[in-house]
Amino acid sequence: MKYVYTFGGKHAEGNAKDKNLLGGKGANLAEMCHLGLPVPAGFTVTTACCTDYFAQGGQFPRELQSQMLEALRKTEATMGMKYGDPQNPLLVSCRSGARKSMPGMMDTVLNVGLSSATIPGMIAKTGNPRFVWDSYRRLIMMYADVVMEKAEGRELAKGIGIRRLLDTALDEYKHLKEYRHDTDLTAENLEELAESFKRRVLEELGVPFPDDPMEQLWGGIGAVFKSWNGKKAVSYRRIEGIPDAWGTAVNVQAMVFGNMGDTSATGVAFTRNPATGDNTFYGEWLINAQGEDVVAGIRTPNPLNDDTKNAQNEHLQSLQELMPGIYTQLSDIRAILEKHYTDMLDIEFTIQEGTLYMLQCRVGKRTGTAALNMAMDMLQEKIIDEKEAVLRVEPAQLDELLHPILDPKVEKGLTPFVKGLPAGPGAASGVIVFTAEDAVASFRANRPCILVREETNPEDVEGMRAAEGILTARGGMTSHAALVARGWGKCCVVGAGDLHINLAAQTVKAGHTVLNAGDVVTLNGTKGHAYVGHQPMIDATENPRFQSFMTMVDKYRTMGVRTNADTPVDAALARSFGAEGIGLFRTEHMFYGKESAEPLFLLRKMILSSSTAERKAVLGQLFPFMKKDIKATLEAMDGLPVTFRLLDPPLHEFIPHSQGNREDLAKALGIDIKEIEKRSEALKESNPMMGHRGVRLGITYPEISETQIRAIFESAAELIQAGRSPMPEIMVPVTCDVRELEFTQKIIQTVYADVLATSGLKAIKHRVGTMIEIPRAALLADQMAGIAEFFSFGTNDLTQMTFGFSRDDTGGFLNDYLKNRIIDADPFQTIDQSGVGLLIEMAARKGRQVRPDIKLGICGEQGGDPASVEFCFRLGLTYVSCSPYRVPIARVAAAHAAIRHGKK
Ligand code: PEP
Ligand code: MG
Repeated sequence: MKYVYTFGGKHAEGNAKDKNLLGGKGANLAEMCHLGLPVPAGFTVTTACCTDYFAQGGQFPRELQSQMLEALRKTEATMGMKYGDPQNPLLVSCRSGARKSMPGMMDTVLNVGLSSATIPGMIAKTGNPRFVWDSYRRLIMMYADVVMEKAEGRELAKGIGIRRLLDTALDEYKHLKEYRHDTDLTAENLEELAESFKRRVLEELGVPFPDDPMEQLWGGIGAVFKSWNGKKAVSYRRIEGIPDAWGTAVNVQAMVFGNMGDTSATGVAFTRNPATGDNTFYGEWLINAQGEDVVAGIRTPNPLNDDTKNAQNEHLQSLQELMPGIYTQLSDIRAILEKHYTDMLDIEFTIQEGTLYMLQCRVGKRTGTAALNMAMDMLQEKIIDEKEAVLRVEPAQLDELLHPILDPKVEKGLTPFVKGLPAGPGAASGVIVFTAEDAVASFRANRPCILVREETNPEDVEGMRAAEGILTARGGMTSHAALVARGWGKCCVVGAGDLHINLAAQTVKAGHTVLNAGDVVTLNGTKGHAYVGHQPMIDATENPRFQSFMTMVDKYRTMGVRTNADTPVDAALARSFGAEGIGLFRTEHMFYGKESAEPLFLLRKMILSSSTAERKAVLGQLFPFMKKDIKATLEAMDGLPVTFRLLDPPLHEFIPHSQGNREDLAKALGIDIKEIEKRSEALKESNPMMGHRGVRLGITYPEISETQIRAIFESAAELIQAGRSPMPEIMVPVTCDVRELEFTQKIIQTVYADVLATSGLKAIKHRVGTMIEIPRAALLADQMAGIAEFFSFGTNDLTQMTFGFSRDDTGGFLNDYLKNRIIDADPFQTIDQSGVGLLIEMAARKGRQVRPDIKLGICGEQGGDPASVEFCFRLGLTYVSCSPYRVPIARVAAAHAAIRHGKK
């Protein structure tokens, strides 16, 4: 097995297509070599090696040794240096690189190869002992932390990591010498520090820091592999849905130094603005700095150029101003890369004594707004075609585009209590929390929160995810938190330098404003402003670019998208979002919500009726209420299908529970409260979800179905007579046998004939169908299709009944199932394709066998989930139906599926 791929000197064994094997970073380093860009030579140890390493219980595969040594020889030849050589030593970095970018989630070791044997050679070569000793103390700190402590799973006695201990030792040393900055440390100081660091490492970890360059290198490679299973990497994978089995590659690359003095630097840039999508080169850099200094968010970096200047960095010099030659070279590389990749890229570079090197390029993470703007711009620039433009916006990013923004009219009159950098767009409002744990707790308690932190830290991913928005005192636009937040479309303001957080007191101060944990603040992540209190927000869908993008989406979409709506208002809203009909109108919703008092009272009266005659009389009173909503909804959806579902929930749900409400009801009905209690007791079920609900109600009380069906046909008849084109569909819920459908069909036919006779119409266009939400109905779908002209998969109940997980009670165990990887995702959010999906696939197939033109749809919550939409497309379903706000997401997901999987 080939485990090692080399790159460097305009040649590489891999290329950009090898992401699965070489990881994104390795594949792109290879590609940049093919493009002739200045990439320091090195080699990539494959992801397959990582998985084999774990499969063999943390042992490197046998073949790796010789392959690695050979690759190292090649790197040495290209760079003209030798690893471990006393005169002309090569130093390397060991960096992780998974298939999908996981910014800051895994570990890196730099300056590998510095030892007592190579240090003198490095000093002689560079003539810069200070730089060499500084690099050495950095290596000890990083190596002790990543390789010796984390990767080996060593716990320090005091529970404080070695890195913190060494950092403190560094601070104490500076204090002792009365130095203010790291740069005040002399070569001698740094040498002394390095020696004391090594003693401390031995003391704390019980093993010496390795002085053999080869041992360092193997330690570095192993530690990067192990960081794949580190806590933050695992959390990030859970959130992003990245499989554990992928593993990471390790890139071993010749070191180039951005910290060799004032003609050296390091930086990060985006070929276009990742927050807005503007076609301007965008980046940050630091003079005389190494590796992670820019993304660590500790120093406020300099702007790359004028386009990158903002309130925080405008006093700092740009690369364009300070090193115009290098800036031009970098701008040319920007053009080469965009032309080659036809996308916005995120690049890392280092300048070593006036020479530019490219360390990384990858397709850059971007906000939803930026994704939309770039897709439309690149289409106009003829860099990409329409299909590609559609694919460039992830369905989930629409969520962010549809997200509220601060009402600009109100914002005009507000003064921010602090300003920072606009790192993630939109607006967010919530209570202040200061730790990731508090953010998670707040999320669980349904209290939207803003995570306020000193600086950005990849350890906080779960808290960042849980928070509505993130506000930090330090860090730049390319800091890890900014990157992660942008990837999620989360509102984020970073580098608000005036913020002073007092964790112990749980307060934050900015100017004269002092706020406590629990106080409400509002962020504008598009501007980088933070305001006290909750501020009003508005919808962002009016944007004409968004509208033309969606028109293009529909051009490529082949599967229908409907909505779940139960009121004329929701129906109209969903129609404005592009819904092509209603896939689920839950008729019981007229008994909840606005203006429901009277119908609910009548329903309760009906439920408590003691005879059929009494029940029919009350149903007669209820009839106008039913008809009003049904007719108005058909009208709002004129020309489009509306699926009305017959009454579904167990009747017991509608009986008032509190004593006071029961007394009121008894009084209104003129009966004794005891009677209510008796009836309620009789209706009580120990397992109501599997009790007297759905079609079973209509079997026991056919008059209920009859009234609903009459309301539907009469509404349609009246609309037809008014020149409209209603398209009602009658749907029977919770069925498990075709005879339930036959029973209901008879009622439908009788009422239909009746309404035709009284209206004088010859026909009312309609369909009759059933939900498929009980496994038995799926198993016998061919029989069901004998009556049903359409199936709508109720994947909420179908998931509940297939797993045997109560949909209302998963809170107690679902997290444990996810944590222990018993299931990969919440099946109530995304269809369980391997189990529930199998039932859907089978029912669809059996339904089509009997009725080739059967309409097939899904109306469970998963209907708005992009992965589920794609699954439905692959099964050839006619439509998906989801809540109004998710309609645009489903439209994009359906278009992506059609483009990726061909027309169906
Ligand atoms: C379903 O079960 O998927 C469904 C849409 O119906 P409800 O959620 O109303 O039970
Ligand atoms: Mg259901």
